[in-house]
Amino acid sequence: MANSSMPRDGRAGARSHALFESAQQVIPGGVNSPVRAFKSVGGEPPFVKRAEGARIWTEDGACLIDYVGSWGPAILGHAHPEVVDAVVRAARDGLSFGAPTAAEIELASMICERVPSCHGGMVRLCNSGTEATMSALRVARGFTGRDKIVKTDGAYHGHADTLLVAAGSGAATLGIPGSAGVPDSVVADTLLVPWNDIAAIEALIERWPDDIAAIIIEPVVGNMGCVPPRPGYLERLREITAQHEIVLIFDEVMTGFRVARGGAQERYGVTPDMTTLGKIVGGGMPIGAYGGKREIMQRVAPLGPVYQAGTLSGNPVAVAAGITTLRLLDRDPPWAQLERRSALLCDGLAERAERHGLPWTGTRVGSMFTGFFQRGEVWNYDDAKRSDTALFGAYFREMLARGVYLAPSQFEAAFLSAAHDDDIIAATLAAADEAMAAVAASR
Ligand SMILES: *Cc1c(COP(=O)(O)O)cnc(C)c1O
Repeated sequence: MANSSMPRDGRAGARSHALFESAQQVIPGGVNSPVRAFKSVGGEPPFVKRAEGARIWTEDGACLIDYVGSWGPAILGHAHPEVVDAVVRAARDGLSFGAPTAAEIELASMICERVPSCHGGMVRLCNSGTEATMSALRVARGFTGRDKIVKTDGAYHGHADTLLVAAGSGAATLGIPGSAGVPDSVVADTLLVPWNDIAAIEALIERWPDDIAAIIIEPVVGNMGCVPPRPGYLERLREITAQHEIVLIFDEVMTGFRVARGGAQERYGVTPDMTTLGKIVGGGMPIGAYGGKREIMQRVAPLGPVYQAGTLSGNPVAVAAGITTLRLLDRDPPWAQLERRSALLCDGLAERAERHGLPWTGTRVGSMFTGFFQRGEVWNYDDAKRSDTALFGAYFREMLARGVYLAPSQFEAAFLSAAHDDDIIAATLAAADEAMAAVAASR
C-alpha cells in the first residue's frame, strides 16, 4: 500500500495536542464547527496538514484513509489536480468582483440541466448550504404567502434560526435541544414530524390546511446517520404537497450529485418544487445554491419581492471549482463504481461486526452509509438514537489508531470518493476487523 512507511496511528500526537491547546485560546472549543472537536467520541482531534485522493495527512505525520471527505464535497477525492488547476487559474484573474461573470451562467446551467426540479427553472448561487436552505424557505414563504414550515426530526438543514429545531448530527451529538440564542418566537412556525411518517404530515396538514408554506426534507437523511426514505414515502409526500399547494423542498446539499448525477430526486424519480445544494457543487470551495420552478424563483429579488443577496455569491474561484467538478463527474461518471465499492465495504463491515459479536445495523444509499451500533432497523431519529454511542466511540478510536479517519459521531454518514479504490477498501476492512476485535475484547 502507498505510504505504508508512514506512521498510521491517526490519534492526536504531540503536535496536534499543542495546536489544539493554542486553538482553544482563540477559537471556541478550538474548532470552527462543533463536531470537529471529538466531544462525542473522546480524545482530541488530529490537525490536518494536507489531503490528496482518499487520504489525509495529519500534523503528527500520520497518513489516514478518509471517510469524511470534508463532510461530503470530496466525491472526486481530495485535491483533484484538474480542480486545483481551475481554482488557481480563476484566482489569477481576481478573487472576487461582486459583479456578474460568464462562469456563473455556466454553473447555473449545469445545475438546471442535471437536477430535475431545476429543468427549465432557475438557480441562485450563494455561499453555503445554510444560506441555501434559509433562502429557499424565505422564497417558499414569499411565494405562498404562508408562514409555517415543516421539517423532519433529526434532519439538519444548516444553522439558520428557524431550522435549528431537533437538528441531527452536531446538535444531536452535543445534546443541544435546538440551540440557545434561538427565541421561541422564531421557531414557532417550524413544525416537526418524524422522518418516514406520512401520517404525521397528513395530520399537520389537516390541522393547518392553509398555513404551511413548505416541507423541507433531506430526501436521504444523512445528518442523523444515513437513513433512507421508506419505499413510497417520497412519492406520497409529492402527492400531498401538490394537492395542498405546499412547496416541497429537497435539501440535497449532501445528496446532490452524490447518490446520482441528478441527486436523490433522480435516483428515486420524485421531483420536488425546489432544491437546495452545497458541498459537491462547490468542489471543496464554499458554495451553496437553491433553485427550482421558474414561477417560484421569479419571486427572488431583483425580479421579485423576496430579498436575498451576498457579497461573495457566485465567487469566481468557487464557481470554477464547481464547474470543473461537475464536468469531471460527467467525463468519468463514478456512480456505478461508487455503488459497487460502497456495497463491498458495507457488506464487509457488517460481516465483521457479526463475526465479533457487535451489534450493527448498516444503512447505505450509493456512496453514503452508516453503521449504527444496534440491532434494530433504523428508519427515523428515534431508531437512530437507540444506537450504542459509547461502543461507536470505542470503534472510532480503534479505527483512528489504525489509520482510518471516520466522522467523529455515530450520527453522521460516511462517504466514499472516486479515489477510494479496491486496495483502500481492503485496507479499511482489515483495520475494521482489528478494531472490532479490540472493541469486542474490551466490552
Ligand atoms: C451540510 C448540510 C447543510 C449545511 O451546509 P453548510 O454548507 O454546512 O452550511 C444543509 N443541509 C444538509 C442536508 C447538509 O448536509
